[in-house]
Formats: sequence, structure tokens, C-alpha cells
Amino acid sequence: MTTRDYQKRSPVAIFFAYFKPHKKLFIFDMVCAFTIAIIDLTFPFITRWSLYDLLPNNDYNTFFIAMTCVALAFFLRAVLTYVVAFWGHTFGILVEADIRSDLFRHMQSLSFGYFDKNRTGQLMSRLTSDLFDITELAHHGPEDVLISAVTITGALVMMFTIQWQLALVIAVMIPLFLTVVWKRRREMAAASSQVKKKIATISTDIESGISGIRTTKAFASEGAEIQKFESANDSFKTSKKQFHKAMGRFIGTMEFFLCTLPLAVIAVGGYLVMEGQMQTIDIIVFNMYVATFITPMRKLATFAELFANGSAGFLRFVELMGTEPSLQDAPDAATMDNVKGNITVDDVHFAYQNETVLHGISLDIPKGETIAVVGPSGGGKSTLCQLIPRFYDVTSGAISIDGQDIRTVTQQSLRRNIGIVQQDVFLFAGSVLENIRYGRPDATVEEVIEAAKMAEIYNDICGMPQGFDTYVGERGVMLSGGQKQRISIARIFLKNPPILILDEATSALDTVTEHRIQETFEKLTQGRTCLIIAHRLSTVRHANRIVVVENGLIVEQGSHEELLSQDGAYAALVATQKLTNG
Ligand code: ADP
Repeated sequence: MTTRDYQKRSPVAIFFAYFKPHKKLFIFDMVCAFTIAIIDLTFPFITRWSLYDLLPNNDYNTFFIAMTCVALAFFLRAVLTYVVAFWGHTFGILVEADIRSDLFRHMQSLSFGYFDKNRTGQLMSRLTSDLFDITELAHHGPEDVLISAVTITGALVMMFTIQWQLALVIAVMIPLFLTVVWKRRREMAAASSQVKKKIATISTDIESGISGIRTTKAFASEGAEIQKFESANDSFKTSKKQFHKAMGRFIGTMEFFLCTLPLAVIAVGGYLVMEGQMQTIDIIVFNMYVATFITPMRKLATFAELFANGSAGFLRFVELMGTEPSLQDAPDAATMDNVKGNITVDDVHFAYQNETVLHGISLDIPKGETIAVVGPSGGGKSTLCQLIPRFYDVTSGAISIDGQDIRTVTQQSLRRNIGIVQQDVFLFAGSVLENIRYGRPDATVEEVIEAAKMAEIYNDICGMPQGFDTYVGERGVMLSGGQKQRISIARIFLKNPPILILDEATSALDTVTEHRIQETFEKLTQGRTCLIIAHRLSTVRHANRIVVVENGLIVEQGSHEELLSQDGAYAALVATQKLTNG
């Protein structure tokens, strides 16, 4: 299904579309569930027949055969219950895997703008708790509805054939029961959706609490973090209490109705017996039929909860799946090949949501040239660099590479030609080898080693316990800042792109490491078109040109000496840094 399908088709149609690939299993499950319901309906019928016809006539043979058949039917019922439990859940697992895979794929296709607006915790909760609820509904829903419908209808038909007045009383009680129970369901659904929201908030808090633990400790702000978390935790506790209150009312109501059904049989049935309108034996049979209701009624009642949770989760899933990536390849997008690396930024304006942060930037970078972008923090340097790989689209103006507007080529081919070294290096949980290979998944081990040597991390890796197979841990926590930087540089050597964007992140490193990394950066920039966001002015001298960005505009550009002699914004920046360093 395409994103458009998720927007246009009804959620019910989308839901059942996930059944299609596994329809054989689904039908098998339904047939087994149906057979269970039929067996349940047959037992009171055979009992009645035995009590009326076989016992009074001392018909041992038929009675023995009838009881043996019931025993065999109950054995078959046990086997079918196993089949429904196992294969029904298997069906659920298959649907769940399909939905999860579609969700993850879709999340991967979404643009940066989406992740700016949505918190990680909320997205994680969609992938875990929402999915669980959806699949519970997918496999228990139809099964429960079928078993309940068949049993209740079948039992009512049998009751009407036995004694219509008593059957009528029971038949009136059932819709009454369902109406009240469904009202309670709505209360529970509202409470459940509150709990979901709170879980998402807590997940986000836990996630940021763990990933930000170093910063928290550095600022000794554990207390504040705990306090913040406690308030979210309290609010979660309250919402959970509300939920269980609603659930208690729901279960209480249900139990009350389930007790009143046998009572009605005895009371009304007893009266009818005394009036001579009913046989005592039929009171027993009626109660046996009422007993067959109990499981379906419970199922229908919990189905309410299942439906409330599953449908809420599924609607959120449909909404996410219907979100178009804000950036899409044009239908006739070309593939970028043989890129030389001439970049042209032409009168680019850009706003994240409403606030414009770039106000008309024009810049020509001929192939092979290194441009250093400097300026005060918040001026728009990173934003400008994020527009070149098209992480966001320009609001107006254009960016082209070798004369080709980047909106006319596929995003994948564009990004294949751009290497990005970010300030915050992200290493995936996995080996050093896997992490370097992220630069080019088809690279051979020899090529990875070569890249590691170029990035001057080879010796460090050889000194690690398992060399290239050393596990680096989530986000690479086992490595030093310098080592992480070098691994990210090795990725770029391996990728070997003609264009390089370098968010120079040496400020977090010690002076010796910083100096050595600088040399590696220089090696990396050779023969490529480079844009360096320079945080330290000492490094920009090697650039062919320095561009000063302030408040979303280029205020100056030229060589280090030219800009110093102009005594403008750049000279002021240099003076400030000298002061801070000195
Ligand atoms: P610099 O790199 O020069 O420090 P940035 O490009 O990071 O500047 O930021 C420019 C402006 O854009 C700042 O006001 C910043 O708050 C804003 N900004 C940066 N990233 C985002 C984002 N993802 N969503 C909204 N605003 C952003």
C-alpha cells in the first residue's frame, strides 16, 4: 500500500488488507473457532434428549453411544482450542511483523522535518505498545466476534424452541447487558488513551534521561532530573489509577449481569414450572445454555477493551503511515552520476516552521575548493550545510550541483556524492568494522582497513581487544571522542564522495588530539569540494575562502588576510577568540 492508500482508504479496509497475505491461516483459525462454538451448543441438546427420551426408557445402548460421542467431541474441542490458541496467535504474529516492518520502513522514509516535530519516545511507543494492541485486535477480534455470535444466536434459537417466554426474557436481557457494558467500555477507552499518552511521555523522559546522563552528571543536576521525572511518573500513576477505576466499574457491571442470567432462569423458569407451562428438566437445559453464554459474553466484554486499545493504536498507525515525507523525489528525478562538485547556492531563503533563518544566501563554490563558514552561533551555518544534501528544501531560491538543481535528482544519488562529518558522531551498536563500513556497505575488509589507516585510527583499532570486531556499544560509548571522530572520518574515506561537509567538532577534544585530527581533516578535504563549519578560527586559514554568516546572511567573504584588513565582522570574531583563548 502507498502513503496515499493510507490517506484515502477507510481504516477498516486497511486493517483487513493486512489479513490478505495470511488469509488461509485466518480461515483455518475461523473454521476451528466455529467448530468449538457448535460443540458447545450440542452438549445441552444431547443432555436434554437423554433426560427426556433415553433415561426414562432405560435405553442403555443409545445413552452410552451419546455419551461417548460427547466425550469425543470434547476431546476434539480440546485439540481445536490448542489449534486456535497456537495458530491464531501465529496469525497475529505474522500480521504484527508486517505492520511493524511497514511502520519502520515508513519512518525511515520520513524527512528531517517530521523528526523535528515528533519525539522519539512517542515514535518508540508506536512501535511497541500500539503494535501489541493492534495485533491483539487483529487475531482475537474476529475470532471472539465469531464465537460469540454463533454461540449466542445458536443458544437463543434452541431456547426459543424449548420455551419461548423464558427465552424472550433472556433475549431482552442480552442487549440491555451489551448496552451498559459498551457504555462502560467508552469510559475505559478514554482512560486508556490517557494512559498511552503518559507512557509516551515517560518513554521520552527515560530515553533522554539515559542518553543525557553524562550531561546530567556533569551539571550535577540528577536531583532536578529526578524531580522532573517524578512529576511525569505521578501523572502516569494518576492516569493508570483512573483507568483501573473505569476497568473495575466495567468488570463489576459485567459480573452483575452474568449472575442475573441464571437467576432469571430459576426465578422465571420456576414460576413457569409452577404454572405448568414448562418442564423442570428444561430449567436445567436452559441453565446449560446460559452457561454457554458466559464465555462469549466475557469475550464480547473484553473485546470492548481490545477494540478500544487496538483501534486507537491502529488509527495512530494509519495517521503515521499517511504522512507523506515532506521531501520527495520528483517523478522524473534523475540519478546524479560523475559529480565534479561545483556547488551554486542562489538567493536561498529558508524557514524551519514559520521563523525564517536564512534570508537570501548566494554562494559559488567551484569544484575542489574549501570554504570555511564562520559566524556567531545561531547565525545559520548548520542550516545552510543541511540544505546542500537536501535534508530540508529551500523555501525560495535554488541549490545546484554541477548546474543541476538538487530537487531534480534522487535524494539517494545526491547523498551518495556528499560526505558529512557531524559534530555529534553517531556510532551504531555493532563492531568497529560494521561502523566504518556504514560508509559503503559493499566495501571489502581490505578497503575498510585502508580507510582506517587514512583516518589514522588503524593502530588504535589493532590495540582494541578484538581489533576490527570489537563491539563499540550503543552510540559508541566505549570509545574516546577522538576515536569516534576518526571512525566517522574513516567512513568518509571509504565513501570517497566528491563533496564534503564538515561540522568541525574539535572543540570537545583535547589540544593534542585536536591538532592531529586537524591534519587528518586536511587530508580528507584534498581533491574535494568542501564546506567546513569552523568553530575555531585557527583552522580556517587553510580554506580557499572564508564566508561569514550572521543572522542568516553572508556579511563578508574573502581570504583570512583580506577579511582581517577589512576590519569587519571577521576581524571582530578573531579578536573575540584571541581574547577567550588568551
Ligand atoms: P549555527 O549553525 O550558525 O549555530 P543554526 O543553523 O544551527 O546556526 O541555527 C539557525 C537558527 O535556526 C537558530 O535560530 C536555530 O534556533 C534555528 N534552528 C536550527 N535547527 C532547527 C530546527 N531543527 N527546527 C527549528 N529551528 C531550528
